[in-house]
Amino acid sequence: MAANGPTLELRSQRVVLPSASGDYVVAPACITIEGTTITAVDRVNDPRPSSPGAAVHDFGDRLLTPAFVNGHVHLAMSAFRGLGGVEATRGNVVEDLYYTLERALSPADIRAFVRVGAYESLLAGVGFVWEHYYGGTALAEGLADTGLAGVVAPTLQDLEGPGVGGLDDALAATESIAHSSSLREQGIYAALGPHATDTVSDRTWRQVADIAARLGLPIHAHVAQSFEEFNRVWERAGTTPVGLLAQTGVLAGSNMLLVHGLYLSKADLERLDPSRHTLGFCPFSQLQFGFCADAAGWSEAGLPWCVATDCAASNDSMNLQKELRLVAGDRGLSTRYSPAFNRFLTTANLDQARAVQHHRSQAFTRHRQLATPAFLLSRVWDCPGSMHPQVKLGTIEPGALANLLVWDPQHPSMWPMHDPLAALAMGDTCAAIESMMVAGRFIGGLGGLQQIARGPDYRDARVEADRRLRDLLERLGLGPR
Ligand SMILES: [Zn+2]
Repeated sequence: MAANGPTLELRSQRVVLPSASGDYVVAPACITIEGTTITAVDRVNDPRPSSPGAAVHDFGDRLLTPAFVNGHVHLAMSAFRGLGGVEATRGNVVEDLYYTLERALSPADIRAFVRVGAYESLLAGVGFVWEHYYGGTALAEGLADTGLAGVVAPTLQDLEGPGVGGLDDALAATESIAHSSSLREQGIYAALGPHATDTVSDRTWRQVADIAARLGLPIHAHVAQSFEEFNRVWERAGTTPVGLLAQTGVLAGSNMLLVHGLYLSKADLERLDPSRHTLGFCPFSQLQFGFCADAAGWSEAGLPWCVATDCAASNDSMNLQKELRLVAGDRGLSTRYSPAFNRFLTTANLDQARAVQHHRSQAFTRHRQLATPAFLLSRVWDCPGSMHPQVKLGTIEPGALANLLVWDPQHPSMWPMHDPLAALAMGDTCAAIESMMVAGRFIGGLGGLQQIARGPDYRDARVEADRRLRDLLERLGLGPR
């Protein structure tokens, strides 16, 4: 948290702060920022003298919140958005389509594609991403080019996939990112990134666990994301993907983010430790490449979980707000696919209608907490902001990374804002973001977030990404005919 500019004081009558009950309150506050970090939060009703030399910004009744944290992305895969169409998702789209494209990518391609995904993220109010991909340090450089912060996990594979043969380089890149003070100054950190339980050998899983413990880094991996993964692990080890992680000792040590979890049993959930293990739920991506995981069951098992988009190739957007609405709406979907509703479809009478209504009210009770705005926002604020032992974010409190959003409550998408948290959890309000701060710096300058897609940096990034995407598709014979 070295001071890389003057002390900043941000004031507003409406700041979303953590409450003593573990919830949020909206209250007047003055936030002091030094370097990349929030150093003080004073809850104040009346303006008080500012610190000598501090640059003061008073946002009046604008709403100040943490910036969103996207707990699982592959930003470079924005370049594949829309490729293959619906038919590509019939089988295993990762293995059938993406691996072919990824084998042809250079680190410079990846850096160029990451930038475009990063700009889309910033415009969606995302100030921090958990990135996982091929390309080593090019991933971190692509983030740094745009000002987006995050945790970068170079993909590790040694059994299957485009990363086979590059394991040592990816491990070296991970250590290099972890030790880079210049990346740290931009809010960029490292994680170990084993790809999945079926593409990484037992020996490498043990190596990953050792390195994570030695460097104090978390592990970020896909776990139980497909039938193919489950099948291979079952045939190789006679257990489930989580069972394999338990057998290899990976679950015993470092923090771990386990993403997707489509094929997780209740016994698997009991093997996880809520103090170190966080599950990653990517609703719209899972709907495309598989089906929605049972996140309500994860909550019932007492496990923390974050909400993420995954990649634009299987989503197709980097906006977290729509994901939260789907989490909230899961209670209604469960009734649509219940045996009670199927019986009603074939035999509509009053008893069957009553049974459907009974299911609906039971589903409402089961999912009630998941639909509250504070719970939804915690999935994209402090939950994914607490997964890395070296950085805290997703909250406005001393010691947290200074990642903030300033929202205009007069914007039509937020009016009349009876409940500020509901407006953010259930709305499409990103056009109301006036200013965004990432690691202590305003993206596009104060009040300039909405203009970044019209600025020269983005234009240059797009020109390079367009050229590299055209070349990539031509190399693979996928270009326009
Ligand atoms: Zn993924």
